[in-house]
Amino acid sequence: VSAPPDRSSRKKMAEKFAPPDRIGFIGLGNMGNPMAHLLVAAGYRLAVFDTNPEAIKHFAASHTCEQPADLKSLGASCPVVITMLPEGHIVRQVLLRDNGVVAGLRPGSVLIDMSSSSPVGTRRLAAELQDRGIPLVDAPVSGGVKKAIDGTLAIMAGGAIEVIERIRDLLAVMGKVFHVGNTGSGHAMKALNNYLSAGTLAMTAEAVIAGTRFGLDAAKIIEILNASSGRSTASEHKFPAFILPRTFNSGFALGLMAKDLRLAVEIATTEGTPSLLLQVLSGIYNQAEQDFGFSADNTDVVRYLESLVEDQNND
Ligand code: NAD
Repeated sequence: VSAPPDRSSRKKMAEKFAPPDRIGFIGLGNMGNPMAHLLVAAGYRLAVFDTNPEAIKHFAASHTCEQPADLKSLGASCPVVITMLPEGHIVRQVLLRDNGVVAGLRPGSVLIDMSSSSPVGTRRLAAELQDRGIPLVDAPVSGGVKKAIDGTLAIMAGGAIEVIERIRDLLAVMGKVFHVGNTGSGHAMKALNNYLSAGTLAMTAEAVIAGTRFGLDAAKIIEILNASSGRSTASEHKFPAFILPRTFNSGFALGLMAKDLRLAVEIATTEGTPSLLLQVLSGIYNQAEQDFGFSADNTDVVRYLESLVEDQNND
């Protein structure tokens, strides 16, 4: 990528990506799998990579896709590479390590990080990649597994407008695209969104726990909240779907939500803005993660809060 782009490369750098262009997709987990599925269904050719062989096996069982032997060859064969990984440190490693994606990339290629990564880390990474002539777009998503399956995610894209335009149609296969601002702003927006998402879940849980201890019925509380000003996605979706039935299986890990809150704290700390509620909330999710484990469901924060009631009664 270090050589200056020639004329045909420059032309390529302005072209929009469209089927059957080849896309590298790294991270076929709860979200990556259905998102990659939509891209194949739209006619893109996919080259996939995941450190978990089961994730690749599961995807390849029902999709035509290439399985490059390593990240460098994936980078070399794909003009667009999407990462959908647990967090930004892993994205950085996958891109920049010896024989990583960047080692193989050709001029005109675009990197899209759809993971919920650190906005501060993403800004730094983008600057380093820019020195090598590689544009990075952060395009994290909201909507959970269900909207990933339906292709109705909210996609919060950060990056130069001319790069966003090249990938807009491709992203639109997976959901509604919002251009937030410069690289890093998508990741900031996502962390701040999840602050509210995690906050309303924990607050609704505390309200329901208090209400039921007082003798109210949990399902009735949720029904009334949903007709009142206290409603949120926690009351409208998470409680009816995963908490009242006690399945705790939203498909979004508790450890990932705790990470998102730490990222929101990082933004507030870096910018010197008040984060009184956020600090407490982040502490609650960190403790819940310690008690229930990274892979527990994010809705298990309710069980964590319930466990505090028992602790009090045992005193
Ligand atoms: P996941 O853990 O289900 O999937 C992550 C995948 O990345 C796994 O298949 C794992 O094997 C793979 N992986 C990990 N390290 C790797 C590496 N070094 N190289 C290649 N592959 C590697 O996570 P998920 O729920 O799909 O979430 C992915 C991202 O999307 C996270 O940043 C998360 O915060 C965010 N997110 C998740 C949801 C949700 O509802 N699950 C919703 C919105 C955003």
